[in-house]
Amino acid sequence: MQILHPFAGSIQHYFEEIADPDRYRPDHCPQCGAKYPLTGHGFYRRTLVDVSFDGVIPVRRYLCLFCKRTVSLLPDFVLPWLRFSISVIALFLVARLLNGLTLVAAAQAAAQTVMPYERGQFWIRRFQKQAPALSLALTPLATLRHPRDPAADFVSRALRMLESIGWITAHRFLFSQLRVHLLGWHACLVPAGRRTTLAAACSSS
Ligand SMILES: [Zn+2]
Repeated sequence: MQILHPFAGSIQHYFEEIADPDRYRPDHCPQCGAKYPLTGHGFYRRTLVDVSFDGVIPVRRYLCLFCKRTVSLLPDFVLPWLRFSISVIALFLVARLLNGLTLVAAAQAAAQTVMPYERGQFWIRRFQKQAPALSLALTPLATLRHPRDPAADFVSRALRMLESIGWITAHRFLFSQLRVHLLGWHACLVPAGRRTTLAAACSSS
């Protein structure tokens, strides 16, 4: 199971923070509910492309000694199952879908000078599919900040809400409270991001 690392700062700062297993050690198991601190269980490594970073980051894991399941502490600037950071995807989607830039110009706005056409199209398709659910789920946060625009289509409305709330703040709320993924869960991860036993071949993009 993935839970979010309550973290805001640079990736360098993230590296320093996760060196200490006690810093964000969960004090109970989010899966079986055991009221004991989880045991450190090393790291796994995942790739990440951010605006000014392209490499591998460690993600800390903990083990519950009662149910024997692991919990990983995913930093909240990354999206589960996607290689690109929230910032990169947000810059691209806003440039393309809200400001009407071309795919190439939108990729440049997201600091991706060499990006395959299909990747941008993949993000756009996933976001368009997810936009109605996002508009609805983000309403409690967005109404506090700006009035709803009933004339806007779901994609524009969801993008404006995300821009207003802040993409990472919105992701933290969606993922932690509702288990909703900004770009929708991959079909083989149901429900709410848990890998099914039948479909082992989830790929990230
Ligand atoms: Zn447990």
